[in-house]
Amino acid sequence: MPPTGLDHIHRNLTCVGERIASACKRSDRPATSVRLVAVTKYAPIETVQALYDLGVRDFGESRPQAIWDRKTQFPEDVRWHLIGPWQTNKVRKTAPLIGLAHSMDRWPLAELVSAESIRCGRVTRVLCEVKLTDDEDKHGFAPEELRGLYSRLAELPGIEVRGLMAMASLDGDREDCRRVFRGLRELRDELRKAHPDGPRLDDLSMGMSNDFEIAIEEGATLVRIGSLLFEEA
Ligand SMILES: *Cc1c(COP(=O)(O)O)cnc(C)c1O
Repeated sequence: MPPTGLDHIHRNLTCVGERIASACKRSDRPATSVRLVAVTKYAPIETVQALYDLGVRDFGESRPQAIWDRKTQFPEDVRWHLIGPWQTNKVRKTAPLIGLAHSMDRWPLAELVSAESIRCGRVTRVLCEVKLTDDEDKHGFAPEELRGLYSRLAELPGIEVRGLMAMASLDGDREDCRRVFRGLRELRDELRKAHPDGPRLDDLSMGMSNDFEIAIEEGATLVRIGSLLFEEA
C-alpha cells in the first residue's frame, strides 16, 4: 500500500486499469495488448514512488532533464519514456537513459539519435510522432513527409522504429479524436504494407486522460496517462 495521503493513487490506478480493460474488451482485444505509460511530468517524486510500489514500470516524462534526474532515483527496471520535444543538444545525455522515445519528429533528430546510439554501443527504440491536426503548436512529421523519409529512417542503424505516436487536438470533440487515432493506425498499416521487409511498427502510442478509451478502440498499444492518475477527487 502507498503511504498515508497517497491512497488516491492506488484508487486512480485501479480505476484506470479497469477502464483500459473494458475498452479492450469492447474492441475484442486482449487486456495485455495495451500498456499504461504513467505520465509523471507534474508529479512529485513521492507519487511516482507510490506508482512504482504499486507495480508500474513505465513512466513518461516530457522533458529530458526530468529523466536525467529521476533515472538515478529509481531501480533499473523502470522504463523511461520521453514523450515531449527532444532538443538536439540533449540527445547525447538522454539516449542511453530511455526505454522508448515517443517524440521522434524530424529527420535531423533521427540521424543524430542514431549516431549517438552507435557511439555508445546501443540501439534506441523510437516512435515517429505524426502531426495529424493543424494545431500550430503540435510537433511531428506530416504524413506525406513520413512516407517520403520512411525507408531512410527505417535503415538508420542506431535506431529501431517501433511504431507511431500522435496527439489529438485538445479542443477537438470525440469524433475529431477518433479521426486522428484512426488516421494514425491507417498510416501505420499503409507503411507496413509498402515496406513488407521493414519494421513491424507494432506500437501505436495514442490516447491521454481524456481520450484513451477511443484510442484503445482504434488500436493504441501505449496510452499516456497523467492527470487521471494523480487527481485527488
Ligand atoms: C502531458 C502529456 C500526456 C498526459 O496528459 P494527461 O491529459 O495528463 O493524461 C500525454 N502525452 C503527452 C505528450 C503529454 O505531454
